[in-house]
Parts: sequence; structure tokens; C-alpha cells
Amino acid sequence: MAGIRVKPEVKQNMSDVAQLLHIDERLLASANETAKNDELFCPGYVMNKHSDGVIETLSELFRFIGTCKKISPADNWLKEERIYSAQAAEVEIKNITAVFPFVTCRQIGFSVLGKPLYELKAGANTARKKVHMNASFHANEWITTSVALRWFKEYCTALCENNTVFGYSALDIFSRTSLSFVPLVNPDGVDLVLYGCEALSEKSKCLSALNEHRPDFREWKANINGVDLNKHFPAHWDIERQRKPKAPSYRDFPGTAPLTEPEAAAMHRLITEQPPDRLIALHTQGEEIYWGYMGIEPEGSSQVVREFEALSEHRYQGVRDIDSHAGFRDWFIQHYGKEGYTIELGKGKNPLPFHMFADIYKATEGILWRSLIF
Ligand SMILES: [Zn+2]
Repeated sequence: MAGIRVKPEVKQNMSDVAQLLHIDERLLASANETAKNDELFCPGYVMNKHSDGVIETLSELFRFIGTCKKISPADNWLKEERIYSAQAAEVEIKNITAVFPFVTCRQIGFSVLGKPLYELKAGANTARKKVHMNASFHANEWITTSVALRWFKEYCTALCENNTVFGYSALDIFSRTSLSFVPLVNPDGVDLVLYGCEALSEKSKCLSALNEHRPDFREWKANINGVDLNKHFPAHWDIERQRKPKAPSYRDFPGTAPLTEPEAAAMHRLITEQPPDRLIALHTQGEEIYWGYMGIEPEGSSQVVREFEALSEHRYQGVRDIDSHAGFRDWFIQHYGKEGYTIELGKGKNPLPFHMFADIYKATEGILWRSLIF
């Protein structure tokens, strides 16, 4: 994605440019951190076309920007409630980075079937705290990706509009907290749940056996190799190995060893390279928030979870201990001794039907905002 072409002099006074664009200067600076000398990124504008030549002055820039569409929170694309296949998520990520160029995107690895795994990042480079958030570790919990991407677009929009949401200034959050966001951890599994296995001819037979020959893949949680990615991390993995399925299955098989699967290995690498201060894992279902692990979670977690509960109007309940190991969050708390929360969105039977989206979003939006506050 390229910015618009400008004479380097136009960028000499970025506060004038920020004013002209009605954008906060910090946001503009962040969007242009890696821009070339003659390139300008304009957060919050949909660039349907590019300027014919090089823009030489601020007044030319003013005229050109007048022909572009500034996003508004009411735009359909921003409010859209939709289900994301791997391909749809990829298109959405491209749209997000084009309109919100302060968001960076990189591939952190590939799924078993070679689909790229993306990490989006937002936050000033002076931000002191880091939060990691992810969705769709489990295939039939794909609604978590819908919730997380919708919320992420809302965050980006609030930044461009300099808005305050739930009493939190989006720009203050951006200055203080850097967010690492992986919206789709298990793309092969999500596509399998959504479309079945017909498209994967050579794997169809074996997947059908792993799926206990059910006619559809609605209950599939694992990755495409039949490994439960959230029972696949080195945190008392042996306990899960002994009591869970011993062979690949649509759910609960912890693998033959931790981190053999590329999706889990990519997430493990991402965290070890840049350990966050707080981790948020979105799952379904139960309207519960798991926040402890064997008593080694930080003290502050109980207070944060109480605030999460209040922001959901007490629909969501914090649960300190559950008899479960080898999860991504379990490993994170055990290894780093930092805050980790698994948020079980919604209530019902997985996969939760999409008509529950609006209700889930309403109950959890405040939690997602609060998760970026320290
Ligand atoms: Zn789950």
C-alpha cells in the first residue's frame, strides 16, 4: 500500500498537515513512520484514486483531500456484522491497513494448509505497555473473529475521530498501550467448519474419520491435523496427554508433543519474541472469564476481572481456577507470571449462531476496551 505522492516540503510541518486532515498529530506521525520522503499516508480517508501528479503545496493537498472520503463511524463497512472465512479475513485486513495506515500487518507464520497467519499492530512506538489479543484458536468458535475485527475497526475509527469510548480516550490508549492482534489463529479449521471438507479432496476421507463420520464439521475445534491448538502448549501438557484422546480428533487431542503444529508454534514465537504485559484470548462459550492458573497469576488480575464483570453488566463471571492445562494462556501465565484472560463469549452450544452477534458484542465491548487500560 502506497501513500499519496507529495513534495517532501509538504511534510515539513506535520502539525499543519494533521490539522488539514482533522487527524491527531500522533496518529499521523505513527501512520507515516515508514513512509518515504515523498509519500504521505492519510489515516481515516478512503483513497479511491490517487493524485495525478505530485502534490506540491498544502493548499493542493487540501483540494485533493476534499475529493477523498473521510470515514465515519456510521459507514456500513465499519459497522458490518459478518462471518469471516480465512479469505474474507484477509480482505478485511487489507481494507483496515489501507484506511488506517497506523495499523501495521505482518505474517507470523502459516497454517498446516499454507494459509498466512496475520498479526495486526496498533500503538505509538513510545507506548509502554503491550497487550496481545487473539481469536479463533478453536475452529467452531469463529464468531470470536467477527467480534474482535468489528471491535478493532471501532478502535481505529475512534482514533481517527479522537473519540472517547466507555470513558477511555482512544488516543490516550494508543499513546500508552501497543496492541498485538491475531484475528484468526486457526484459518484451516474455521474454513472446514464453514465450508466442509469437499474442497480438501485428498484429506476428506481422513477428516471424516476424525470427525466421527458426522455429516458436517460444526463441532470441529481442532486444527486441520486434528490437534487441539489450545491443549498444545508446554504448561503441564502431560496431564492433558494422559486424560485426553490419544489420536487426532475433531477436539481435545493435545498432539504427540507440545508445539508440533505450525499455528501454535507461530503464536508461541510471537509471544516469546515480544512478551506482552497482558494477554486476551477470545473463545466461546459460557459468559465466563478465566483469569487464574495454579495460583501463579499476578495479584492485579482479580481487580481487572472485577472491572470486566462490571463492564459486561455482570453477565460475565470471573472464574479463577478450572481443571485445564496446556492452553495458550496457561503457558503464558506460567512462563511469564503476567496477566492472562480467556473470555468465553456468549452462551449456548458451539458454534454459536451468528444471530447472537449483536448481543455478544454489546456485552463484551466494554471488556475489550478495558483490556487496553493499565
Ligand atoms: Zn475455545
